[in-house]
Amino acid sequence: MFIESFKVESPNVKYTESEIESVYNYETTELVHENKNGTYQWVVKPKTVKYEFKTNTRVPKLGVMLVGWGGNNGSTLTGGVIANREGISWATKDKIEKANYFGSLTQASAIRVGSFQGEEIYAPFKSLLPMVNPDDIVFGGWDISNLNLADAMARAKVFDIDLQKQLRPYMESMVPLPGIYDPDFIAANQGDRANNVIKGTKKEQVQQIIKDIKEFKEKSKVDRVVVLWTANTERYSNVAVGLNDTEENLLASLDRNEAEISPSTLFAIACVMENVPFINGSPQNTFVPGLIDLAIRRNSLIGGDDFKSGQTKMKSVLVDFLVGAGIKPTSIVSYNHLGNNDGMNLSAPQTFRSKEISKSNVVDDMVNSNAILYEPGEHPDHVVVIKYVPYVGDSKRAMDEYTSEIFMGGKNTIVLHNTCEDSLLAAPIILDLVLLAELSTRIQFKAEDEGKFHSFHPVATILSYLTKAPLVPPGTPVVNALSKQRAMLENIMRACVGLAPENNMILEYK
Ligand code: NAD
Repeated sequence: MFIESFKVESPNVKYTESEIESVYNYETTELVHENKNGTYQWVVKPKTVKYEFKTNTRVPKLGVMLVGWGGNNGSTLTGGVIANREGISWATKDKIEKANYFGSLTQASAIRVGSFQGEEIYAPFKSLLPMVNPDDIVFGGWDISNLNLADAMARAKVFDIDLQKQLRPYMESMVPLPGIYDPDFIAANQGDRANNVIKGTKKEQVQQIIKDIKEFKEKSKVDRVVVLWTANTERYSNVAVGLNDTEENLLASLDRNEAEISPSTLFAIACVMENVPFINGSPQNTFVPGLIDLAIRRNSLIGGDDFKSGQTKMKSVLVDFLVGAGIKPTSIVSYNHLGNNDGMNLSAPQTFRSKEISKSNVVDDMVNSNAILYEPGEHPDHVVVIKYVPYVGDSKRAMDEYTSEIFMGGKNTIVLHNTCEDSLLAAPIILDLVLLAELSTRIQFKAEDEGKFHSFHPVATILSYLTKAPLVPPGTPVVNALSKQRAMLENIMRACVGLAPENNMILEYK
């Protein structure tokens, strides 16, 4: 059975006019390596830590500014939200399609709330906590190409033509603000579209971005802005002592107009300065150490890197399943070909390298979790190939071969072939990223030994379900396995309303 909404009644939860307050017992473990009569042994001590959560239930009017607004993702997301808001339906050769938010964790997935008269009861994921309704988002942003969003949507060739015709009137007047173009960071083949760029020094460019955010906020009358990078993949920037290794050095480099500060880092600096959440949906190292320092000191949310939309998402499910089943993946080979502008940009070796890095570490936590299968330091061969094939456009092909060692020297090879419009996968993920980033800024919590409530760490690991290479604070474990990432997010949200984590024990029926 499916219910649309629910309220929790418990001595641990209080709903006030503007907040949900909950007390939550976090069951965890402490490990000790103890010397017992001359031999060391691991002792695991379960412990309970009491946490208090406070969630502000006043949902703001949200503005989302996309860097790369006129790209395939940007135009697809904007059009998709308008189509949902306006209740648009359109004819294809198969049937009449209706706008939906399929592929969005927050808008189209469900959680189990419990059982009622022997039946499992589910509710929308978004019913856990008050969240911004995506239909109410006001979009804006920047692009180095000056096409209005209607023409950008046509250039992207993602939506059916009947839908495009209906969306055009809403999108024609949407024109991206000039972006920061630095040909050194993206492929040379992007030069042709760069006709809408901010001039001046890097510091002036940052100041212009800050001004743009302020003006957008004022004009669109939104309470809160989130900025998300869905512009071209950049090459990695060098990380060097004195350049960008600390906050001071990064800001001094900005003053010196240092060539090695990438456009995405400039956008991120502007957002952190303005205390506007900034999310990086591409693989490059926007978050150089100095920027992470800056964000931590100013307690301004940053999250990334690289949307986890297709091939990597499958990988973080499949390898988790194989290793969890006691099967040993030994070779993972992934081919992609795509024909959109992202593919064209990734055909340059330096931008491809960024993608290769972000796709490559995704199985590490799963491999490291099982020393029965893998010797220390042992790792499956893992190769990623991306080719640009214009004809297939946004309809990306991903082909994967997983070879594993099974019982008694046997080998098992699984081959996947995945065809899908890339931007239709990415757009709902962008939506989730901005909605969850906004939500997380409304949650405060404290452990029993902490005096004051505080927000989550500014490096937003809570978003990791949605990213290929989750950015984590220094010294924090990286979790890539998709089911763990989803459980983390859902269980934190459950804790905010005083619900126990989903443990799947279903003891009532045992
Ligand atoms: P796209 O090339 O269609 O769009 C990028 C847009 O960014 C372009 O319109 C370009 O003009 C603009 N741009 C480039 N540099 C800019 C700058 N400095 N400032 C402002 N605008 C700038 O690409 P896309 O398919 O929309 O993908 C966007 C990004 O998302 C890429 O980096 C891609 O690797 C990443 N990504 C996409 C997916 C997916 O499934 N679609 C998954 C993971 C990551």
